[in-house]
Amino acid sequence: MPELAPFAVGQHNSRGRRLFEHAPSGRTEFQRDRDRIIHSTAFRRLEYKTQVFVNHEGDLFRTRLTHSLEVAQIGRTVARSLGLNEDLVEAIALAHDLGHTPFGHAGQDTLNACMKDHGGFEHNLQSLRVVDKLEERYAEFDGLNLCFETREGILKHCSLANAAKLGEVGERFLLKQQPSLEAQLTNLADEIAYNNHDVDDGLRSGLIDIGALSGISIFARHLEEAQRAYPALTERRMIHETVRRMIGTLVTDLIQQTRANIAVVNPETLADIRSGGELAGFSPEVRTEQQELKQFLRLNLYQHYRVARMTTKAQRIVRELFEAFMETPRLLPPQYQEKARGDKARAIADYIAGMTDRYAIIEYRRLFSVEETG
Ligand code: MG
Repeated sequence: MPELAPFAVGQHNSRGRRLFEHAPSGRTEFQRDRDRIIHSTAFRRLEYKTQVFVNHEGDLFRTRLTHSLEVAQIGRTVARSLGLNEDLVEAIALAHDLGHTPFGHAGQDTLNACMKDHGGFEHNLQSLRVVDKLEERYAEFDGLNLCFETREGILKHCSLANAAKLGEVGERFLLKQQPSLEAQLTNLADEIAYNNHDVDDGLRSGLIDIGALSGISIFARHLEEAQRAYPALTERRMIHETVRRMIGTLVTDLIQQTRANIAVVNPETLADIRSGGELAGFSPEVRTEQQELKQFLRLNLYQHYRVARMTTKAQRIVRELFEAFMETPRLLPPQYQEKARGDKARAIADYIAGMTDRYAIIEYRRLFSVEETG
C-alpha cells in the first residue's frame, strides 16, 4: 500500500473491534473487514435488490451489488490519490447498502411507516445492524465484528434518538463531529455512482431521453465534448462516452477540492479530522451542477409514472407482508418466529428488510394468492 497521510485511518490509530481478535496475517484489519463483508449473506442478496428499477424489469440495470462495486471503484481511486486508506474505503463502500429493504426507497419508506410505533426503520442503521448483529456465521460472535472505523462509515446518517442508543459509534452525531475522511469520501463516491448510473439506466430504459438531458449543464457539456471527438458515434456509445466523462470530471473535482480543503485546514491527525468541519467535497460550481442533475432525475426519472406504478406495488407488498406477520406471527419461518417472541415488530422488520425484490414478490404470492403454493 502506498504511504498513508498522517490523518488517514491506519492500524495504529484504529479503535479496533468490539470483541478482541488477534491481528490477521497477510492482510490488514480493513482487508479482513472487506473479506467478511463479501462473504456475508446480506452481500450476496444485493444482487437481487434494486434502487430505481425492480430486478425483473431487465438484466441490464444496476442492482445494489453492481452499485456497491462502482462506489468501491470510485472511492478507492479517490482514496489512493489522497493518501487515504483504500481498504477501509472499499469495506465501507461494499457494506453501505447492506441494510436496504427490497424495492429501493419505496420499500424503506413503507417499512419505516409500518415501524412508526416500534422505533422506526432507517436503512443506514439497518446496515449497521446487519454487520453488528444479524449475520449469523461466526462461532464467537453475532454479526461480523468489524472495526470501529468501518462501522462508523456504514452509519452515514442517524437520528439523534437512535445515536444516543448506539454507544461509541453514535457519539459523533451527538458531539457534532465528523467521521474519518475515508467515510466522508465514500459517501460522495456513492453520490457520483448513483447519479451517473441513473442517467445511464434511465436512458437505456427509455424513461428519459438525450434531448431532455441536454438542458442539464453537466450532461450537455460532456455530450458536446464526446460529439466533437467522435461525430459519427452510435447513440449507445455516445451515452457511455458522455457518462464516463461526467464520472471523470466529478472524481477529479472531488480529489482536487478535497486536497485544497486539506491544505487550508492542515490536519495532522485523525483526531483533527474528526473534530474539524467536513473536508471531503466538490467545488461550488460542480456542486451546483450536481444539484441540477439530481433535481432533473427526481422529476423525470424517480417520479416517472412507470416508476410510480412499481413504487405503489412495492409499498403494497411491504405493508401487507408486515401487517400479515404482525397479526399472525405463525406465518413467519421458524427462526423468525422465535425472534418474534422478543421484539415482534423488529423481528418482522429484519425479516422483510433482508428479502430480495423477487423473494418479497414470491412471499407475497405465497401469503395472498390461493392459486399458487409452495
Ligand atoms: Mg448507495
